Amino acid sequence: MDLKGKIREIQDFPKEGISFKDVTTLLADGEAYAYAIDKMLASVEDVEFDVVLGPEARGFLIGAPIAYAARKAFVPVRKPGKLPYETYRFEYELEYGTDVLEIHKDAIKPGARVLIADDLLATGGTVESIIRMVEEFGAEVVGCVFLIELSFLNGREKLGGCRAESLVYY
Ligand code: 5GP
Repeated sequence: MDLKGKIREIQDFPKEGISFKDVTTLLADGEAYAYAIDKMLASVEDVEFDVVLGPEARGFLIGAPIAYAARKAFVPVRKPGKLPYETYRFEYELEYGTDVLEIHKDAIKPGARVLIADDLLATGGTVESIIRMVEEFGAEVVGCVFLIELSFLNGREKLGGCRAESLVYY
């Protein structure tokens, strides 16, 4: 299936010079969405994980169906102020600016094997900070799955050698 053909590119969003990869057009095609999730899960079939961790918001759209299909836990990483219980807060850099994310303090158990799922790997700043946060919890990131990788930004180099699989490359 031509997944790249299902992704819409929007020029100069959210800032001038950015060619934003709009995955809503892929999600709007049920067959393409299911195919992408199945392929992403298959790409890490040899990886043993306990929990899928997805950053708000598009990481939910990728991580939750992967967790469901694998019958594993899903843990949301959220924008500040959204989680009701005690949170651990961490800052990270984006392709376009900086941001803050939070996770529930009891969401990752020491020794947990974590799979990070997101729609897109750009500079790697988001996932780099999540990996560091997971390690501070005494857990381990055993893999990362992305729908899209902007390989020209070399985000993979920030993942410290962590196993990373992407379906579509630009
Ligand atoms: P990074 O931290 O790797 O620079 O940026 C990745 C994060 O930014 C992901 O959570 C992703 O959702 C978002 N992101 C950055 N650029 C794009 C884009 O062109 N399209 C989409 N869908 N998300 C993007």
